[in-house]
Amino acid sequence: MENGAKSWAFRGTQKLSAKQSKDPKQKVTIREALDKLMGNLNEDDDRSVIPLGHGDPSAFPCFRTSPVAEDAIVDAVRSSKFNCYSPAAGIPPARRAIAEYLSRDLPYKLSPDDVSVTLGCTQAIEIIITALARPGANILVPRPGYPLYEARAAFSNLEVRHFDLIPEKGWEVDLDSVEALTDDNTVAMVIISPGNPCGNTAETARKLGIIVIADEVYSHLVFGNKQFVPMGEFGSIVPVLTVGSISKRWIVPGWRLGWIATNDPCGLLKQTGILDSIKKYLNISSDPATFIQGAIPKILENTTEEFFSNIINTMKEDADICYSKIKEIPGIACPQKPEGAMSAMVKLNLSLLEGINDDMDFCAKLAKEESVIVLPGIAVGMKNWIRITFAIEPVFLAEGLDRIKSFYERHAKKL
Ligand SMILES: *Cc1c(COP(=O)(O)O)cnc(C)c1O
Repeated sequence: MENGAKSWAFRGTQKLSAKQSKDPKQKVTIREALDKLMGNLNEDDDRSVIPLGHGDPSAFPCFRTSPVAEDAIVDAVRSSKFNCYSPAAGIPPARRAIAEYLSRDLPYKLSPDDVSVTLGCTQAIEIIITALARPGANILVPRPGYPLYEARAAFSNLEVRHFDLIPEKGWEVDLDSVEALTDDNTVAMVIISPGNPCGNTAETARKLGIIVIADEVYSHLVFGNKQFVPMGEFGSIVPVLTVGSISKRWIVPGWRLGWIATNDPCGLLKQTGILDSIKKYLNISSDPATFIQGAIPKILENTTEEFFSNIINTMKEDADICYSKIKEIPGIACPQKPEGAMSAMVKLNLSLLEGINDDMDFCAKLAKEESVIVLPGIAVGMKNWIRITFAIEPVFLAEGLDRIKSFYERHAKKL
């Protein structure tokens, strides 16, 4: 048997390993970077590890999900109505509930047919990227962004082009760079909420003749002066495919329930064939557990305002701690106080730091010396930045930032 295995040689001429992005700014995924940092921790440090790199606050008591959501799941299981396979696009009551939930913020009504239920926002992204991929096609993705888009596109040979978000302007889309990147093979642009002027972006996408993919997994998680505006509001200007999930707003990323909503009141997407492709792909892919879908109507309809405002208040308190503590540390800077989502982009000033080569080096040494994990910017396309996820217990966050301050003081360049 051993000999047989030894003589095996792959017949194909193609190399099967996944294509790496050609962009030198995009070499690691979030998971790869965090795994590497976790391996770098010092076991002799008795202090607890402070995780500021992850996107999952569910382990912290202050971010426990609503009892309404927990009860809805229990009731769905006990009803024994949801032990069956699900239809490809999801069970009708779940699609109807999601359509109604999203329509609350829109100037028109979505129908259940406009909604497909997916395994989290992750599968929604996978389905759309796969459905858009054609030889030669390209897609525009923001930087900083969410690395799943690049990684998923690489598996489908869909070319990714990056447009910039401008830190000094509240991470607004640089619309000039969007226009400069677009050609006849550009099929869509991705917009990740919050932090973008939806109306201008929609006008630009309409002019360029491309679809907008709106990642609204952070919808309603806003705590600054700006209100949440869904991209779908501009669906009559340009067709919008909105992806979302209950992972972030309800703090249940492990429940794996998300959706794709078609915001296309003028029916413009028919000519593109994209909806057909999505339907075909849904037919061959797995669905969220049926009892989670069964619980969705109650989760979306009955969760109290009090639950949401508690979560928002804690996030806001965290964002304030993050912003004010970073101000005290000369070697790092946060150009914009976070007004939504769960993380802040922070710029490293390497000229003030001794013996730190780049963002990955900063994060690796910080993990080893202070048992604090932060994400190197390279994982989201931003070399020599770091991303701090502030959604943890406020006292831990304060402690983590104090440790970053001592780290800075130890590594500050002697002038
Ligand atoms: C977390 C996240 C996702 C994935 O959401 P899931 O529902 O957990 O699959 C997608 N996009 C962005 C921007 C995210 O932060």
